[in-house]
Amino acid sequence: MENSYPWRHLRRFNAFTDFFKQLHGKRLQKLSIDAGFSCPNRTGKTRTGGCTFCNNRAFNPSYCTPDKSITRQIEEGIQFHRWRYRRSVGYLAYFQAYSNTYAPIDSLHKLYEEALAHPEVVGLVIGTRPDCVDETILDYLAELSRSYVILLEFGIESVYDQSLERINRGHDFAASQWAVREAAARGLMVGGHFILGLPGESESAMLEATQFINELPFHHIKLHQLQLIKGTAMVKDYRKHPQDYRFFSPDEYIRFLIQFVERLRPDLQLERFASEVPPAFNLTPVSWDLRYDVFLKRFEAELERCDTWQGRLWKPQA
Ligand code: SF4
Repeated sequence: MENSYPWRHLRRFNAFTDFFKQLHGKRLQKLSIDAGFSCPNRTGKTRTGGCTFCNNRAFNPSYCTPDKSITRQIEEGIQFHRWRYRRSVGYLAYFQAYSNTYAPIDSLHKLYEEALAHPEVVGLVIGTRPDCVDETILDYLAELSRSYVILLEFGIESVYDQSLERINRGHDFAASQWAVREAAARGLMVGGHFILGLPGESESAMLEATQFINELPFHHIKLHQLQLIKGTAMVKDYRKHPQDYRFFSPDEYIRFLIQFVERLRPDLQLERFASEVPPAFNLTPVSWDLRYDVFLKRFEAELERCDTWQGRLWKPQA
């Protein structure tokens, strides 16, 4: 079977990791940037209080804080990563914290172009919400993508409006569909982030969600198991309604993930399958005591043992 995987390597899923090497001829390393953005779910434009699962402090690397210039964060990021990668690498400035298109277009020009002016930066990864892009922003990013690597990554989280409401997301799935289609139509590489295990979502509903994902022109997606993070509204909701929550153990998650991946279209690149939360922030009631690289090895070994692969159960739309 291996030789006939459409992604032309021997792993049992379409791994995003090799993509940049093929595209750019060398490894590209992301450098996290906190450019001081907020998001409409915190400023009151759509909601207040933020998404119930969100605490950005749990994910930001220590070298990136908005009181440092973008150039300085890039320099410090390069120093941080350089000892690990002696081979030739290029860097992508990863506008990661909060919603990185939530500002007037002139500010976006200034911030992105400061990053792109760094001689070792070959492109941008921009994380944002689907309701924080409009045609002007997408046109500008499409123009940048003619000279640089530009990845636009949307937090989609769920395809179900009921779940989006429950987590106080402040936009519906139709907003995601619009943003993904408009960005892809302009030739941008579009990524999507999804959380598996949101309150009220059964395993069968999560598996059915793959149909909605397959229909959208994503270039790549990231999947994360639900985790309970200190300082979030979800902690209170979980204490009130623990029966609504599904926290997977690593073994349960791997078993579920295999079924999920079997239903994804083969040309969809998979960047990540699970998240790691620093122990000081992690209140998840199920122990998840393994590093991501160990998790990934176990997942791939299980794909092998079950003799299955991404797209095995995918059926093209008639
Ligand atoms: S997940 Fe994103 S949109 Fe939601 S509150 Fe956090 S930064 Fe804002």
